[in-house]
Amino acid sequence: MVPTITLNDKTQIPQLGFGTYLIPPEQTADIVGQALQVGYRHVDTAQMYGNEEGVGRAIAASGIPREELYVTSKLANDKHRPDDVRRSFDETMARLGLERLDLFLMHWPLPTLYDGDYVSTWKAITDLVADGRLRTAGVSNFQPDHLDRIVAETGVVPAVNQIEAHPYFTNDTAREASRRHGVAVEAWSPLGQGAVLNDAKIAEIAADHGRSASQIVLRWHIQRGDIVFPKSMRRERMAENFALFDFSLTPQEVDAISSLDKGERGRVGPNPDTFDYLPD
Ligand code: NAD
Repeated sequence: MVPTITLNDKTQIPQLGFGTYLIPPEQTADIVGQALQVGYRHVDTAQMYGNEEGVGRAIAASGIPREELYVTSKLANDKHRPDDVRRSFDETMARLGLERLDLFLMHWPLPTLYDGDYVSTWKAITDLVADGRLRTAGVSNFQPDHLDRIVAETGVVPAVNQIEAHPYFTNDTAREASRRHGVAVEAWSPLGQGAVLNDAKIAEIAADHGRSASQIVLRWHIQRGDIVFPKSMRRERMAENFALFDFSLTPQEVDAISSLDKGERGRVGPNPDTFDYLPD
């Protein structure tokens, strides 16, 4: 039974979902279909993953009622101009085959591009909610000053901030800034893309619980209150990563895992202050 988290716009999001980064487009319908069979009801995709259409096909083929599913996508880095936000959102909806999207995020703030203007991009995303085709608007990879700025300049607080977080990069600075604004945190690369799974301390806690390292790390995220969507192409790992709600870590175990933080050195992804990738 996956718990839900109530966001600041009063909507609910399942705390555990399925990530789709690097799932090849031609395999996505099959892989996401398997994840839905395993029991996942929340899927995280993005325009830049190139696999929204496969996600849409898996949803259509599953026969699962739309209201039981939670679907997130994210704005591509080359679509920050307000007109492009609207146009690309329409394209996302066509690829997903949905009438309404649950959550749409600005994928990166890109403070060194577009003359540093991610505020008009944020405004355009929030306008999609007013249009009725988007339920919830959020951001991703927003550092504290990026959050402070969009809130100060638009008065609209994002519902979520999706940021890198895992035991080697706990990212408490961005987490605390998000919490201060009432923004729920989604932890991307919750397993550090596999980097944390061979850690000796995590192995010890896993042995004590008779669980896998992956389950221990994901449970740590859940007990920290963050939303997670691990990715795996293998069904047995999808099932393993879904079985998190019949055990719990002690507060001491949670603290021991948090103390594995390596700060900036622990990042597996780019720093949002300087990241300026544009798709071809
Ligand atoms: P992850 O931390 O979920 O790690 C995935 C990798 O861990 C897999 O490829 C596999 O090698 C390994 N793994 C998964 N389950 C395992 C298990 N049970 N046992 C052993 N190994 C296992 O990495 P991720 O895919 O980068 O992150 C999850 C999701 O977060 C993505 O799919 C995507 O949806 C999202 N994401 C968002 C951003 C962003 O900028 N917003 C960036 C990266 C990822």
